[in-house]
Amino acid sequence: MNEHYISDPDLDRPGEACGVFGIIGPDIDAARLTYFGLFALQHRGQESAGIAVSDRDNLTVYKDLGLVAQVFDESILAGLPGGLAIGHTRYSTTGSNSWENSQPVFRHLDTNGIALAHNGNLTNTSALAEMLGPLAATTDSELMTEAIGRAMQEGTVTLEDALVVALPSFEGAFTLTVMDTSTLVGVRDPRGFRPLCLGRLQDSWVLASETAALDILGAEFIRQVAPGEMVIIDHEGPRSRFPFDEEDTHLCIFEFVYFARPDSTLLGETIQTTRREMGRRLAIQAPVAADITVPVPESGIPAAQGFAEVSGVPYTDGLVKNRYVGRTFIEPAQAIRERGIRMKLNAMPGVVGGKRVVLVDDSIVRGSTTKQLVAMVREAGATEVHLRISSPPYRWPCFYGMDTGDRSTLLAADRDVVDIASELDVDTLVYLDLENLIQATGSHADAFCTACLSGSYPTEVPVTDNKFLLERLP
Ligand code: SF4
Repeated sequence: MNEHYISDPDLDRPGEACGVFGIIGPDIDAARLTYFGLFALQHRGQESAGIAVSDRDNLTVYKDLGLVAQVFDESILAGLPGGLAIGHTRYSTTGSNSWENSQPVFRHLDTNGIALAHNGNLTNTSALAEMLGPLAATTDSELMTEAIGRAMQEGTVTLEDALVVALPSFEGAFTLTVMDTSTLVGVRDPRGFRPLCLGRLQDSWVLASETAALDILGAEFIRQVAPGEMVIIDHEGPRSRFPFDEEDTHLCIFEFVYFARPDSTLLGETIQTTRREMGRRLAIQAPVAADITVPVPESGIPAAQGFAEVSGVPYTDGLVKNRYVGRTFIEPAQAIRERGIRMKLNAMPGVVGGKRVVLVDDSIVRGSTTKQLVAMVREAGATEVHLRISSPPYRWPCFYGMDTGDRSTLLAADRDVVDIASELDVDTLVYLDLENLIQATGSHADAFCTACLSGSYPTEVPVTDNKFLLERLP
């Protein structure tokens, strides 16, 4: 097929981290509830979606490439009965975007099988592949499923006990929902790179990457699953085990900057509130004489609101987003594809014309979109463009579940801020500094991973690995 897809509906952003979900309860339509949960986690991965469901006798997996609404319809959900399910929305951070690599991953066992949904990236993928021997696996998630399945077959009878055996051999970032025919398990790696929360819906229990997935079901938020915690949920309700050696916590700071939904709650505060605080701090750190504050929709909106509030430079919508452009959009021809950003955003001359504009966004990764945006705002008549970014320069690649490509693709990799300002053709450019970013979260620096911003990695990193590692092994 000669179809071309816009590569990232949210412009120049790293691929997100995947969303995981799980639910168990008496007399519920678990697959349907999972479908709604995945809807709320769609922003974490738009390449594929899948649900595994158990009716206590059989475990069935249905998954495909595409958005949740494209993969599932009424008749498919009707064919997935049972009161226990897990779900996944995927962005490929290991392995390519193919059906085989979509999740949940299923592994057959003599007694039936297990299914696993993974958010994050292992940092010992090569070592784990070597330990497990020749396999057809193309992702780290398949390796994990294989290791757990083998532990079950080698005499560890329950899924819970098999996880206790297998989990310590995984290193890096892994938030998991795992199931067999009767038990749901949620796991957060000991550093807690990626979030996972526990909720309750009447007599049912829910696990989800973000609280927004609880809200969509009307479930009550109980708590975040702790780093290093394994929550086992069966007909008796949840209980916890801690199978890992203790490590310092390193929650991904980028969940606050960009990844998590604004209406999700992390560390006791809604993400929207935290992002707004980033904008307030940016206004104090980098004031500028200007006429209007314009957000890059939608990522820059809360920070722009905070910036305007403190600076007194009025908040104004100067860019309009075409909300229907996404991964399913088929570009008709190369000529139009080259128009790139104009398919997604348009500047309003009546708003920005003749004005000194403060343009606010949350981050710059590769920079190509930002450059086009600035040009568009200038073409629309802005007399000055002052760019304010509510996070520090993104200089280092992520090995924990974000696909930012290799370091050479990062705009700030080897450039200072003056160089970047000149490259983007802005009058001034200021990034929020790391201290202000952390203070905006209301937590302490040592609670976070900030590696892509600071170069300080909380684990050893696999310098030679990339997302296609397993596909290239002989
Ligand atoms: S490197 Fe950056 S994106 Fe990756 S986990 Fe750390 S803070 Fe998050």
